[in-house]
Amino acid sequence: MRRITVLGATGSIGESTLDVVRRHPERYAVHALTAHRQVDKLAAQCREFRPAHAVVGTAQAASELEALLRADGIKTGVGYGEAALEAVAVDSAADSVMAAIVGAAGLRPTLAAARAGKRVLLANKEALVMSGRLFMDAVREHGATLLPIDSEHNAIFQCLPADDPRLGAGVSKILLTASGGPFRTRDPATLHDISPDEACAHPNWVMGRKISVDSATMMNKGLEVIEAHWLFAAPAERIEVLIHPQSIVHSMVSYADGSVLAQLGNPDMRTPIAYGLAYPERMYAGVSPLDLTRAGALTFETPDLARFPCLGLAFDALRAGGTAPAILNAANEVAVEAFLQGQIRFTDIARIVAQVLAQASPGSVDTLEGVMDADQDARRRAGALLESVRSC
Ligand code: NAD
Ligand code: MG
Repeated sequence: MRRITVLGATGSIGESTLDVVRRHPERYAVHALTAHRQVDKLAAQCREFRPAHAVVGTAQAASELEALLRADGIKTGVGYGEAALEAVAVDSAADSVMAAIVGAAGLRPTLAAARAGKRVLLANKEALVMSGRLFMDAVREHGATLLPIDSEHNAIFQCLPADDPRLGAGVSKILLTASGGPFRTRDPATLHDISPDEACAHPNWVMGRKISVDSATMMNKGLEVIEAHWLFAAPAERIEVLIHPQSIVHSMVSYADGSVLAQLGNPDMRTPIAYGLAYPERMYAGVSPLDLTRAGALTFETPDLARFPCLGLAFDALRAGGTAPAILNAANEVAVEAFLQGQIRFTDIARIVAQVLAQASPGSVDTLEGVMDADQDARRRAGALLESVRSC
């Protein structure tokens, strides 16, 4: 019986994780669940899975959750804030941690889980983008097992040699597929009028709002290029992004002998989640099998960087190295949140990220504090730019 902690249990990945766990009660028990604000949803999850611990963002949310649980006679211990989040991430009573908090808020608990030598199921790509080498060193030094849950990286992990899933001898490059999001064929001249709901209406995947906007700008693919660099020791020039609008081929690996290995499946995050949970075994995920006779044509094209400037910015940040990816990520988080709040236009996102990156002088990624300083500085700069964009 594996004991699992789900960080970000109320989100899209968190719910899909619990959906898979629910199908295998003989294999998995839930040790802890965390959420930021959605107390009612977390209370319902606690009623069903009876975790030992639940963590929320604030004291107010904690007392609301506690009242709901005690009214039902549920004994789950309730905590709140960053320290409680880190405490459940390292708790020796759990062996696996699903890292599914969105954004930079996931960095500390995810890194803490790696330093505690856990089996880390990594959905929170921003943590790895920000802390890169620091995170990978922690995994190695503390004997953690890192299993990529992002569908592309999960696919690449499956296509690389099982004994050494990195770009070693014989592997030529990674072919990272991207759907191209909702605006792949839209006239670029009309992009400035996009509403948050239009940007979040992804053609193939149902996801949280932040990653949905990232998919529309293709910053998501940019973050994934950086994620792939760290996970698979792949230099930027050996990662190629291919637009594949059907989202059936989740990514590929190209070998020196001319072979290309791909992983295919219906676009449903329960497949990579079940892979991570059961690894190295396989188990039922609740996903219908892929019927290639009904999937239609599978097409591939090169992304247009003029249409998707965020993808080019991410490659720039990866090549610049050090804290540049953390700066890119922080500026993007600020800009996406402002867009979702209706404060800036869709096309301002790339403009703000580009300006913050141009102003920054990236430092090295030696300590968590250094990364957080770079993150905070970039947030301040992006915040100042928001003011000038709003007043235009
Ligand atoms: P979501 O917005 O649906 O859920 C986010 C979760 O994080 C929620 O449980 C929320 O309560 C929690 N959270 C938010 N802010 C927090 C904070 N400040 N402190 C603590 N907890 C906080 O997001 P999602 O779509 O599930 O994505 C989660 C992560 O997985 C992201 O990093 C995303 O890039 C990655 N990912 C998601 C998908 C997908 O299909 N949804 C696919 C690949 C990777
Ligand atoms: Mg992905």
